[in-house]
Amino acid sequence: MSIDYKDRASKIALPSHLFIDGKRVDAISQKTFDNINPGTGKVLGPVAEGDSDDINHAVASARKAFDAGVWSNMAPKDRKKVLIRLADFMDDHAEELALLETLDVGKPIGDSLSVDVPSSANCMRWYGEACDKIYDEVAPTGPGAFGTITREAIGVVAAVVPWNFPLLMTCWKLGPALAAGNSVVLKPAEQSPLTALRLAELAIEAGLPEGVLNVVPGFGPTAGKALGLHMDVDCLAFTGSGEVGKLFLQYSGQSNMKRVWLECGGKTPNVVFADCLDLKKAAEHAAIGIFYNQGEVCTAASRLIVQDTIKDEFIEEVLKVAATMQPGDPLDINTSLGALIEEKHMNRVLDYIDIGKNEGAKLLCGGERVLLNQGGYYVAPTIFDNVQSSMRIAQEEIFGPVLSTLTFKDEEEAIHIANDSQYGLAACLWTADLNKAIKLSRRIRAGNMWINCWDGGDMTMPFGGYKQSGNGRDKSLHALDKYTEIKSTWIDLS
Ligand code: NAD
Repeated sequence: MSIDYKDRASKIALPSHLFIDGKRVDAISQKTFDNINPGTGKVLGPVAEGDSDDINHAVASARKAFDAGVWSNMAPKDRKKVLIRLADFMDDHAEELALLETLDVGKPIGDSLSVDVPSSANCMRWYGEACDKIYDEVAPTGPGAFGTITREAIGVVAAVVPWNFPLLMTCWKLGPALAAGNSVVLKPAEQSPLTALRLAELAIEAGLPEGVLNVVPGFGPTAGKALGLHMDVDCLAFTGSGEVGKLFLQYSGQSNMKRVWLECGGKTPNVVFADCLDLKKAAEHAAIGIFYNQGEVCTAASRLIVQDTIKDEFIEEVLKVAATMQPGDPLDINTSLGALIEEKHMNRVLDYIDIGKNEGAKLLCGGERVLLNQGGYYVAPTIFDNVQSSMRIAQEEIFGPVLSTLTFKDEEEAIHIANDSQYGLAACLWTADLNKAIKLSRRIRAGNMWINCWDGGDMTMPFGGYKQSGNGRDKSLHALDKYTEIKSTWIDLS
């Protein structure tokens, strides 16, 4: 018998407090805000609204824990045990976390269960395992000196994350930051506080000392800004829009020059050559690449750039896959496309669809809000043809299920269009000619190159962008660079 996730969701306890110093607490102001379910448009419940006073409280708690050494000085092999236990607890609570995620952000429960939660637990486990496997360096000095190059935790890390993959983005920050011995204050997006709050409770049960992980839901211009300007935050790791990323650079300059690491937006070019081996597979990835998670993916393959000789045939295939990805109830296990995060965002996506039409692009499917009777924020998968690279729908991040199709004649034109963007997060190339794939991928300005696939990779591969997609890298051992300082110690032996 299939599981009734709607029923299970109706019985689940929803976290509603701030989590500071190992405890649930109210906001100092006693204020709360309504947390909305994007699938229904109804209020899920109140959540404590943190502001600068609560951020001060959380940062003080993180600093106290860091200075006491309860985590920062714990032997790496013991930190490892705690993080792996936390990953195990996440697996044990997988259904609960998946339901919280789906209720909070409207993504399909099937995706929360099969992607978001297991990937997040896997991330935590991966960094847990890394704790006691990283060695420092001895410099090749002459005989008169002994030089060591050691990595040290940076101190208090603030993480500010978005709503599209709330738990996964949280774990991409927490995994390496905690593995390196830091204390953390996390501000989830105001639209998606639930899984981070539950995770903090599980972390305490797993043995993370109090104060090492603090979670403060609240709004960007209050709680987020307070973290950015805080004089006692050593490092700010951000995932979100470029607009807010730039604000964090300013906050740093206006305060204590804290390190700022940014994972921002993208406009992924998906370049399909006529010599692509498997056009059906490429078409499937082209559709999934833009419609997965309702297109609310920083690496969404939002620019389909097809060789002109195969364009019509290829688009036919993409349309067939799109037709199978119609929006539905996020709590239905058969749903592949859920609700957009909020009404404001849905209207922004619909505005972009109007902009595309007015710019002269040809609407092939979708283009409208659907499932109005559900009360939530659903937009049909939308495909535009005849898009020019200069159009706004080819340049700006829409962050919804809207695909822009462009064509090219030869390699030079393909590379020109692919690079014609302020962003450089990811790019895909589809060709059977590996020499061509390697040569062209070297010319594409993007942090993630996917050859004959969309969104390939695992925890061993760094993730991040060139240009205005950000700086620094999440995932892999490279992520530890963000959360550690390098100390050079020169011992005079003369
Ligand atoms: P956003 O920038 O609006 O919000 C992100 C976070 O910043 C939230 O926690 C928000 O509360 C906070 N914030 C907002 N205004 C702030 C301010 N004035 N001061 C301080 N903090 C503030 O982004 P979003 O709409 O939540 O997420 C969508 C964006 O995230 C897209 O641009 C997407 O590409 C990007 N994203 C990037 C990656 C990546 O790894 N590169 C991953 C996921 C999402």
